Amino acid sequence: MAKIIKLDDKSVEFLEKIMELSGEAITLCDQCGTCSAGCPFVVEMDLNPSEIMRNVMLGQQDVMESKTMWICASCFTCTVRCPRMLDVSKVSEALRQVKLREAIDFINMDEISEEEAKKLPSIALVGAFRKFTR
Ligand code: SF4
Ligand code: SF4
Repeated sequence: MAKIIKLDDKSVEFLEKIMELSGEAITLCDQCGTCSAGCPFVVEMDLNPSEIMRNVMLGQQDVMESKTMWICASCFTCTVRCPRMLDVSKVSEALRQVKLREAIDFINMDEISEEEAKKLPSIALVGAFRKFTR
């Protein structure tokens, strides 16, 4: 027997925010799992792509603590295979935007020694600052 799940206001607000930022009709996801099956980075993720879609669909804000959004490489493998033409990478990007707006810095330039800064490829530093700082 089908079960009706009712979302509270905060969950609806979260779902609508991610749908607006991503531009994806997340509620169309039918949980087929094709995205998870084809994702080349799924073994590194704590929630696989279809779980991310499910959690967002249910307005579960603890999805923000998942590391999956940072692992997603926007390779679009899931996007081209999704029978609903959903783009999970855009959902990951929307989650990252929300997280970055919390303005919590995870990298302090002062803690990176001059020696380390010289060794690190500049693109890695730029990418890390983009992802891990406000
Ligand atoms: S492939 Fe598309 S429809 Fe299937 S679970 Fe992933 S996002 Fe949802
Ligand atoms: S876009 Fe992200 S979620 Fe989709 S297959 Fe690539 S790494 Fe996985």
